Amino acid sequence: MFKKKRILTGDNPTGRLHLGHYVGSLENRVRLQNDYETFILVADMHAYAYPKYVGEPDIVSKSVIDVTVDNLAVGLDPEKSTIFVESAIPEIYELGIIFSMLTSHARVLRNPTLKEEIKVKEMGDNYSLGFVNFPLLQVADILCVRADLVPVGEDQLPHLELTNEVVRKFNGTYGLTFEEIEPMIGRVKRLVGLDGNAKMTKSLGNTIYLSEDRESLKKKVMSMYTDPNRLRASDPGKVDGNPVFIYHDAFNQNEEEVKELKDRYVKGKVGDVEVKEKLFVALDEFLTPIRERHSYYEGHRDEVRDILRSGTDKTRNIVQGTLDDVKSKMMLFGI
Ligand code: ATP
Ligand code: MG
Repeated sequence: MFKKKRILTGDNPTGRLHLGHYVGSLENRVRLQNDYETFILVADMHAYAYPKYVGEPDIVSKSVIDVTVDNLAVGLDPEKSTIFVESAIPEIYELGIIFSMLTSHARVLRNPTLKEEIKVKEMGDNYSLGFVNFPLLQVADILCVRADLVPVGEDQLPHLELTNEVVRKFNGTYGLTFEEIEPMIGRVKRLVGLDGNAKMTKSLGNTIYLSEDRESLKKKVMSMYTDPNRLRASDPGKVDGNPVFIYHDAFNQNEEEVKELKDRYVKGKVGDVEVKEKLFVALDEFLTPIRERHSYYEGHRDEVRDILRSGTDKTRNIVQGTLDDVKSKMMLFGI
């Protein structure tokens, strides 16, 4: 029988999901859930890789539900996609430990995303051993269900490269066990933040949440960073790299309107206020159906917990099979 290929991807439960998550990964999850057997990981142990969350179990545990609600709100269908909680599947940690034996310390540290996170999140040299090890935990997250395709934002690519190195090392040492995975980057590789920072990220608070209400959406859009060199509406403005236009391109369905605004902007014939007001309308339209599903699941949190429980049970079964295979290839059963 034809077997569907598998998707594995997920999120850190360190707060609500935002537009960056949407264009980087969620959109592809929703689009592909009919064609792939889809697994969505809520990476709660991963959250503790960040010193900032070690003392915040309340935030992490609340976010497990919030992130699940956000995934459901954008259109993931629990009948088609399996959502599971990392910490409830200890076999993932076993795989993570095994994979850490196959990878050099220097290799793990040679990871541009780790280096960037240490800098952006101001960890100095206070990051934990668990932080250094988290890419290998992520390798375990991906390989535990033998994923084929991993839809993620661009910042995750170094972790996916590491995954394929582990696959080759494992196969080369113990015999063919895993297939190499394929990354899938979103429509926008890395969405900029409201403040013009290179990445919209929870940690910097430069986000528009998928659950953002109209009023705060309006406030955020109207105070967005634009072209810093433009002081008056009559000054010719820069469109390239301007966050307001990056968002117009990503979320405004009315291409004519965007083109016309850009034309006027470069000629100094439109003010920031009008560009932002139109962006607000476009984003509000985009978020309306998401907010509706959001409020349904917010009102049915028990249903959300059931979805997580059954998704976790189903995934754990699969992971146990993978771990058995790995252990037997490594002759770890032998007495
Ligand atoms: P944190 O700051 O806590 O790391 P985050 O906002 O980076 O949070 P993650 O949970 O680390 O969110 O990311 C989940 C997924 O969303 C990953 O695939 C990541 O690449 C993607 N993603 C996050 N932010 C963006 C963004 N601004 N543009 C594109 N993809 C993004
Ligand atoms: Mg991140």
